[in-house]
Amino acid sequence: MPDVIASAPGRINLVGEHAGYNQSFVLPVAIDRRTYTAVGRRGGELFIAFSKELGKKTSFEILPGRFEHSNFWVNYVKGACTLLNKDKTIEGTNFAVGSTVPRGSGLSSSAAYVVSIIEAVAHLYGVDLDEMDVPILAQRIENEFIGVQTGIMDPFVAKFAREGSALLIDTRSLEYQHIPMPEGCSILVCVTGVKRALATTEYNRRQQQCQEAVAELCRILDRNLTSLRDVTAEEIKEVDGEMDQTLYMRALHVVTENDRVVKTGAALMNGDKEFVGNLMLESHASLRRNYQVSGPELDAFVEIAEPLEGVYGARMTGAGFGGSAICLVESGNENELATRIAREYKQRGFEDGYVFVARTGCGSRIEKS
Ligand code: ADP
Ligand code: MG
Repeated sequence: MPDVIASAPGRINLVGEHAGYNQSFVLPVAIDRRTYTAVGRRGGELFIAFSKELGKKTSFEILPGRFEHSNFWVNYVKGACTLLNKDKTIEGTNFAVGSTVPRGSGLSSSAAYVVSIIEAVAHLYGVDLDEMDVPILAQRIENEFIGVQTGIMDPFVAKFAREGSALLIDTRSLEYQHIPMPEGCSILVCVTGVKRALATTEYNRRQQQCQEAVAELCRILDRNLTSLRDVTAEEIKEVDGEMDQTLYMRALHVVTENDRVVKTGAALMNGDKEFVGNLMLESHASLRRNYQVSGPELDAFVEIAEPLEGVYGARMTGAGFGGSAICLVESGNENELATRIAREYKQRGFEDGYVFVARTGCGSRIEKS
């Protein structure tokens, strides 16, 4: 029997894509797919880890924390134990991981995984953590130990989400607010089945372009800007033609997306599902045209879903180039809609996709101690 079991959810992002690293607002929702990490004390130096999904078991010593290329998934465990071992309290540990979050599908299985590891290890060894330390440590693990420049949003929602609500996060101040999802709507997750081959390179390139856009805008607006968050939707539209066209399109997406998040938050509070759906469609169009991070599979899902009766809106979620799309639909016949969208997607020649109905989930918790 394990000593401690902790769990954390996967997520979709309602709107606010590629906004987190521009210090903008984001609006994710945790889903009822979770990752569970069970840990037990072994004593000594040896760590043994098992992943049910990967069907892999491996052993290692945390120190020195060598990067493991052949057991990539173990680096998250190593990262967590290294950062949590400030007071040298952590000893050899057994780990077992099980998950219902699809991996590499834009639903943030990595944040669910790493947050559940942090919670389990901290609880087992009595590591003193503030709530806010959890997403910050999780982000550091992905940045420093995995080498992916992810933002704070994914671990943040994995930690703080509340069932039945979306989480409006200001990624600049880290203030957040739970906004109840309106009655009578459901979320469909449309998994493209496409591995996001270009995702890392293009993700890094977009980050770079946003920085370049900030530099150009400082010059044009003759103002000191720290990020695209400091530019309004009116201002950006006025500088069309005055800056490099690609940088303009990237900035246009980020600035208008920030606006859409704020509007979506207000629409959710008013229970205005039609307006939320429209903003999702606008977000997708902007990601496709201006930010250029969509792809044929994501576009197909949105095109198929948009005209259907009972669909409020649809868009890609996550970094793009594959991964998943989401639809906000009227509750009642969400299962039929899911089946229909999946069928039409296959008919367009995309073999590996599937669609499931996602309920909202809660943030990380200790399941057993
Ligand atoms: P996403 O977060 O969008 O699902 P990532 O590429 O960021 O995609 O994260 C997927 C990686 O996270 C996997 O390659 C694996 O290393 C790790 N991971 C996630 N879930 C598990 C699991 N249940 N067992 C082992 N490793 C996992
Ligand atoms: Mg991830």
